[in-house]
Amino acid sequence: MGGPGSGKGTQARLLEEVLGIIQIASGDLFREQMKDQTELGQLAEKFIDVGDLVPDDVTISMIAERVSRSDCTIGAVLDGFPRTIAQALALETIAADLKTRISVVPCIDLPLEILLRRLAGRWTCRQNGHVYHDVYKQPIDAGICDIDGSELYQREDDTEETQKHRIRVYRQRTTPLIKYYDERGMLVRIEGDQSIEQVHQALVATIAEAETLLVNK
Ligand SMILES: [Zn+2]
Repeated sequence: MGGPGSGKGTQARLLEEVLGIIQIASGDLFREQMKDQTELGQLAEKFIDVGDLVPDDVTISMIAERVSRSDCTIGAVLDGFPRTIAQALALETIAADLKTRISVVPCIDLPLEILLRRLAGRWTCRQNGHVYHDVYKQPIDAGICDIDGSELYQREDDTEETQKHRIRVYRQRTTPLIKYYDERGMLVRIEGDQSIEQVHQALVATIAEAETLLVNK
């Protein structure tokens, strides 16, 4: 977990690279299923087209289908899911059906001022949504994605006010979920105001510790 600008997506991709655990971003999943025009993709499109949130049951079905594929047998890093307690409960059922469990819920913590500063310098690649930053993560060639060579862009409507609003909405929506995982001893807070490498090391240590604890239970 982690708000907009926390570097959550970058960290999830790094975990995939280093640990070989597939990263699943709910946003990518929507795009993929809509592009392939699957039954779920068409259903999700109906809501997105009119600017509505995709209902929980559609999102849950997509995640259930994705994590049951063979590349997820050793696990998966979920990015952007669950976002609600209903989704969290569904995830537990999905995991139980697959005879697996949720090891840990890392939450990247950052103060509002730093989130805003980070969001201001953010660039996104058009093709796959890879994220770069003026200060924290510059591309090798200015304006071009290192990974797929597509153009980097900044949303023009990304004013400080809309960003503040987005962060507030995120916090409001996720507070109950954070509390839910905290009460179950599954939440681990990660100090987000560190370098990408330091946050990554903290995440790897957190996952290693959680897995050891689970194995010894
Ligand atoms: Zn890219």
